[in-house]
Amino acid sequence: MRVSGYAASSATSALTPFSFERRKSRPDDVVIDILFCGVCHTDLHLARNHGSFTIYPIVPGHEIIGTVRQVGEKVGRFKAGDMVGVGCMVDSCQHCQPCQTGWEQDCTEGATFTYNSTDRHDGAVTYGGYSDSIVVRDKFVVSIPAGLDPAGAAPLLCAGITTWSPLHRWKVGPGSRVAVIGLGGLGHMALKLAKARGASVTLFTRSGGKEKDAFRLGADHVVLSSDPAHMTAVAGRYDLIIDTVPYDHDINPYMPTLALEGVLVLVGYMGPLSTPVNAGGVVRGRRAISGSFIGGVGETQQMLDFCGQHGIVSDVEVIPIQQINQAYERMLKSDVKYRFVIDMASLKS
Ligand code: NAP
Ligand code: ZN
Ligand code: ZN
Repeated sequence: MRVSGYAASSATSALTPFSFERRKSRPDDVVIDILFCGVCHTDLHLARNHGSFTIYPIVPGHEIIGTVRQVGEKVGRFKAGDMVGVGCMVDSCQHCQPCQTGWEQDCTEGATFTYNSTDRHDGAVTYGGYSDSIVVRDKFVVSIPAGLDPAGAAPLLCAGITTWSPLHRWKVGPGSRVAVIGLGGLGHMALKLAKARGASVTLFTRSGGKEKDAFRLGADHVVLSSDPAHMTAVAGRYDLIIDTVPYDHDINPYMPTLALEGVLVLVGYMGPLSTPVNAGGVVRGRRAISGSFIGGVGETQQMLDFCGQHGIVSDVEVIPIQQINQAYERMLKSDVKYRFVIDMASLKS
């Protein structure tokens, strides 16, 4: 199946139109016509080879919303016309302990990711959602609840699940005190989801000027992380801090703001931290530093159903695909309110 999309051909080249072949549909596959695809900071990291493992050409995009065009003969859950979503994964081994637990993202044999990955059956490189259609194993396709705006729902497939998963794991609810570091795509979903779960929510931001938006998105408090007096004023306060910062940064100033047995969970940055962590900040107060990687497929459906019930979608700026390179530049300046989403109809123009 011939597909149109956008790809980067090197770490320094812009994304440009790219035509490629998708695999023939297997009996357990769903063929999806893509309507919208969110723009995650991970797309930028991978397009620019920040992790040194990018396979070029790369077609990014793992916040996919579309309608089912056709299903394989073994697929019972979906039919043509259904509104569906695809997130960061398109396959996994299905038999290891993490897969059996519903944590396909941490499959011990390696999950097959939506792009920049290798198909576990035919060895082909996977291409993502900056394209007009995609073929995905049915188990990795989720249903989009009726009533959710499809463009606004796209970022739920990565930004939504990545922030939902730690909220779920640490049982955040009424009485919980949650803080979020960084108001971007992940950060704004964390505010909305934590608030809807009943928590008291704080935003840590380095950008003065985001306060009004933060309150609208669900924050009860905003703390300017660059102001030591602001930081001291919230000492000992949070049960859970979700750190969405995408680059190397010093986590030490946040540790004293954790309550007894509080947890700082890293979701934004995966490389080495250049400022050593002061062990005293963890030892005293029985605190912990943890991490969280997207979320399982079942958990993603649970999050989508919650969003359906609570009317939660992302705040998006819908762009034509021709503006993707400008969108990356704006994302680097934290100038996103609060997720770019590509309208895939623009591929035809
Ligand atoms: P984003 O929209 O660009 O938002 C990141 C926010 O972090 C910015 O808006 C900014 O907020 C703050 N920030 C940016 N650069 C910073 C710096 N150098 N120091 C301190 N703060 C900084 O990015 P995103 O799409 O939310 O993604 C965030 C990170 O999560 C990316 O690295 C992405 O790859 C990663 N990610 C991880 C997972 C996972 O499974 N763990 C899943 C998806 C994405 P303020 O202006 O408010 O300070
Ligand atoms: Zn993502
Ligand atoms: Zn597995």
